[in-house]
This record gives sequence, C-alpha cells and structure tokens, in this order.
Amino acid sequence: MNKGVFIVVSGPSGVGKDTLIDELVKEEYGIYSVSMTTRKRREGEVEGEDYFYRDIDTFEDYIKNDKFLEYAKYNNNYYGTLKDFVFDKINMGINVFANIDVQGALQIKKVFPEAVSIFIMPPSFEELEKRLRNRNTDSEEDIINRLNIAKNEITYKDKYDYTVINNTVDKAVIDIKNIIDNEKKKINTD
Ligand code: 5GP
Repeated sequence: MNKGVFIVVSGPSGVGKDTLIDELVKEEYGIYSVSMTTRKRREGEVEGEDYFYRDIDTFEDYIKNDKFLEYAKYNNNYYGTLKDFVFDKINMGINVFANIDVQGALQIKKVFPEAVSIFIMPPSFEELEKRLRNRNTDSEEDIINRLNIAKNEITYKDKYDYTVINNTVDKAVIDIKNIIDNEKKKINTD
C-alpha cells in the first residue's frame, strides 16, 4: 500500500492558503488534519470534523504522553496537531494537509522530517496588500499589523522544502499537486 504525504502549508495571512487547500480537498487530493483544541465548540462546528474538543486536563495528558506533532496556545486555548490522526491517514495512503503557522511548521519538521513543508508566497507584497484590503473584513490597523507579521513570516520561507507562488489558484494547485506526486514517489520507493 502506498503511503500518503503529510503536507504542512504556511504563508502570510491573505495569501490564499485556505482557498488552495480547500480546492485540493475538493478534488480529493487529501484531507484536512483535524486538530485537538480546548476551546469551546462554536455553533455549526462538528466534533471530529472541525476539531476534537477536549478539556484542559485531557489536552495536557496528551502533551505529557507526546501525542502531538506540535501544539500552541492562542487566546488561552490549546490547539495541537495529533500524531495518531496524521499517521493513521498517511498509513492508509491518504494525503493530509495542515495549515500551520511558521513556528508550528518548523516544530513538525523537527519531530517528523518526512512531512513536506510548503510556503505560499503572494506574487508581490503589493498584491498581498490588495488582497487583504479586498477582503473588507479588517480595520486599517489590522491590515497594517497583518502586513508587518507577513514581512516577518516571509523571512522564514527558505526553511521550507518548497515555495509556491499563489499567482492564480489554478496554477498554484497544479504546483502543489506536482510536489505531492514527486514526494509520494520518493517515500514509496525508499
Ligand atoms: P480557531 O479558534 O479560530 O478555530 O483557531 C484559532 C487559531 O488556531 C487559528 O490561527 C488556527 O490556524 C490555529 N490552529 C488551529 N489548529 C491548530 C493546530 O493544531 N496547531 C496550531 N499551532 N495552531 C492551530
């Protein structure tokens, strides 16, 4: 049985990571990694689909027992990428995508070097600014903040296995598929 690939995707806010992964999942190229969290379930979210919702004690037990590829705390809630979830799926031949920030992605590569890390770049900084503005969801202060965070994140791009420029969704999706196909060949002939 051919193994699947674990693909860790990072990139600045507004670069279109979700759109790219959504498209790959829609085309049945893989599934999203389902993380564990201690935050409350929001209306419409489904246990086991959006997250595995657990209490803090359970989460901390998982940390102690080394069950995460990486974890982080946001807004006083824990979030973690589950080893068992990812390894079960790739052993079944299913590709798994995780949309993880730079720190999490570097952590994953340390623990599981076979993970394939992809950094999504905007075609230009001006284009990223345009995309963030076109979302019309953020205040000016927020946009400037996100652009500054993006500048910092982009400095990590060379630590990734691959960089993909999200010029158009169609082209970027093809680039990612080619990366996965190549990596799949590599791990399945070793
Ligand atoms: P939300 O509560 O809105 O679902 O997610 C809050 C933040 O947690 C988002 O930035 C999301 O990307 C991040 N997040 C979700 N799952 C994980 C995970 O497994 N690990 C890390 N490091 N961050 C996560």
